Amino acid sequence: MFSFSVLASSGAARAGLLTTPHGRVETPAFMPVGTAGAVKATTRAQLEEAGAQILLANTYHLMLRPGDELVAERGGLHGFTGWPGPFLTDSGGYQVFSLAALRRVDDDGVSFRSHLDGTAHRLTPERAMDVQMNLGADLVMAFDECPPSTASREEIAAATGRTTRWARRSREAHRRADQWLFGIVQGGVHLDLREKSAAEITALDLPGHAIGGLAVGETKDDTWRVVEHVVPLLPADRPRYLMGVGTPEDILDGVARGIDLFDCVLPTRNARNGQLFTSAGRLSIRNARYRRDPRPPDAACGCYTCRTASRAYLRHLHLAGEMTAATLMTVHNLTYYLDTLRAVRQNTLLGRFEEFRREVLRALAASEAEADGGA
Ligand SMILES: [Zn+2]
Repeated sequence: MFSFSVLASSGAARAGLLTTPHGRVETPAFMPVGTAGAVKATTRAQLEEAGAQILLANTYHLMLRPGDELVAERGGLHGFTGWPGPFLTDSGGYQVFSLAALRRVDDDGVSFRSHLDGTAHRLTPERAMDVQMNLGADLVMAFDECPPSTASREEIAAATGRTTRWARRSREAHRRADQWLFGIVQGGVHLDLREKSAAEITALDLPGHAIGGLAVGETKDDTWRVVEHVVPLLPADRPRYLMGVGTPEDILDGVARGIDLFDCVLPTRNARNGQLFTSAGRLSIRNARYRRDPRPPDAACGCYTCRTASRAYLRHLHLAGEMTAATLMTVHNLTYYLDTLRAVRQNTLLGRFEEFRREVLRALAASEAEADGGA
């Protein structure tokens, strides 16, 4: 039902294949974020055309609304949303710590109030597994504690110890053979804590591993120092997931260090704010220079938006607050991310990942004036 294999490497970059009960995922892969069971502003057909192979959904949001039992009753995430491919659900931990009000952590779990209506809830490793078994994703995450980057070393050490104990309890409580449970390595920017966490989490012999607690406000140097330290401590024959990362540059930097799975709200959130990622750099559609611009967002892109819409039209829709602006720009940004990852994989298979990475980084560094072709 499940398998993962690394087909080729180029430096530390890997091209792999992850097989799940709902289909195959070519890695390295980007997982569009479908927070509440939908990738904002898109339909299933648009996600399929953009080339999405796996979606992420958020445990915290779905347990609060509409409730994981309702989702289970409607056939789990697959039956409820109609998305036929694989899903990954997060553990809920990160969002409890970033969104919920009045949270109180103890060694057994976390009590908190919903950011929606203030109602009281509790997540424990057992409850996080129940919710994720109800949601029915293919890949599920052990319950973890993700402290902010401003936390003291003592707080991070305590959270890391709890994450290990909660991962053991998550493994005990997890019962679905049609789901793969991944462990999460925590430890902030402290390499000794990361080492201890990696040793304890990998000892659980889970089929995949995530690096959590990064992209939470630390410097980029710290992010990559931690990733470089942790990746060699994770079993090479299992998928590695860098949670919540990132920009196109970050994803290339992660692949270069041996990461296989990524998720981030950036392409979808930025699309709604009018920022487009293109093969010639970033482009802000609000800019007055696009007022009469007849060109598509990205001449090198084959997405529906680039085939049918001009920058002038997108700018008008965006400024007029038309919902279609969000849809068209999300379709493009997701296509850009997914096309880039596909090209990363192709170049890794050909043994020329590093050359490809340099080409893309050069293009991304181009200024908006250059992306504009000087017009
Ligand atoms: Zn496009």
